[in-house]
Amino acid sequence: MKEIQVMDVMEAVGKMCIKANTELPQDVRNKLEQAMAEETSSSAKEVLRQLLENADLAMETKLPLCQDCGLAVFFVEVGDDIKVVGGNLREAINEGVRKGYAEGYLRKSACDPLTRVNTGDGTPAVVHFDLVPGDKLKIVFMPKGGGAENMSRVTMLAPAQGWEGIKNFVINRVAEAGPNPCPPTVIGIGIGGTFEHSAKLAKKSLMRNLEDTHSDPEIAAREKELEEALNALGIGPMGLGGKTTVLGVKINMEPCHLASLPLAVNVQCHSQRHEEVVL
Ligand code: SF4
Repeated sequence: MKEIQVMDVMEAVGKMCIKANTELPQDVRNKLEQAMAEETSSSAKEVLRQLLENADLAMETKLPLCQDCGLAVFFVEVGDDIKVVGGNLREAINEGVRKGYAEGYLRKSACDPLTRVNTGDGTPAVVHFDLVPGDKLKIVFMPKGGGAENMSRVTMLAPAQGWEGIKNFVINRVAEAGPNPCPPTVIGIGIGGTFEHSAKLAKKSLMRNLEDTHSDPEIAAREKELEEALNALGIGPMGLGGKTTVLGVKINMEPCHLASLPLAVNVQCHSQRHEEVVL
């Protein structure tokens, strides 16, 4: 059984926190560049140009892409042939967040929900663990900004509402959100499972590469259909109008109870930050 030291986890997480908050992933840059080339509105083009310039400056100066450095969200795949030694895995991840957010001068956004007192160090992180075969520990990190997260919703549709009900809910959600989630956004959609699992499916779908195509052609076609419908809303970059309201739509679907149709829409802003490490 392979042993992984908690110190290595902490170091890796610390570095990921800084990198994710200062380097916009290439897939997101590519989508922003493509959108800028395709936009015809001058204000939409200018907003996209500024977003790309902001990404360049963040990379050069190592200053955060956005003042909101997010709540730290992790998806962790734990191989069943590894043993984490020297401490507790969840605590090592939290320690890495403390280190990364302090060393990177990243804004700490975690607070008590009622008193609103800041926890002071960016923790606790939200960590989703999955047990998988193998001898690897895969850690995927996403700093999730509050503005976009606030626009997300979970609902329980009636099964008879089907795809049309899903489509209407997603379109209405993005229309009502308007400029609030800092568009162009990425829309993660979780369909199926249970109430809470649909939200996890939606969040996990945001970890996909923006330029990929779903392996199931039927779902890939539905993603495209929704992307076209959402871009037809005309909200545009930062809500100033244009053809680019979303950079992508990602669907994650699993079976559900025959009496239910759980649906979650997790909205992500243009600052679609994510990082991944395999130990
Ligand atoms: S929604 Fe995203 S881009 Fe807007 S303020 Fe929050 S983190 Fe920044």
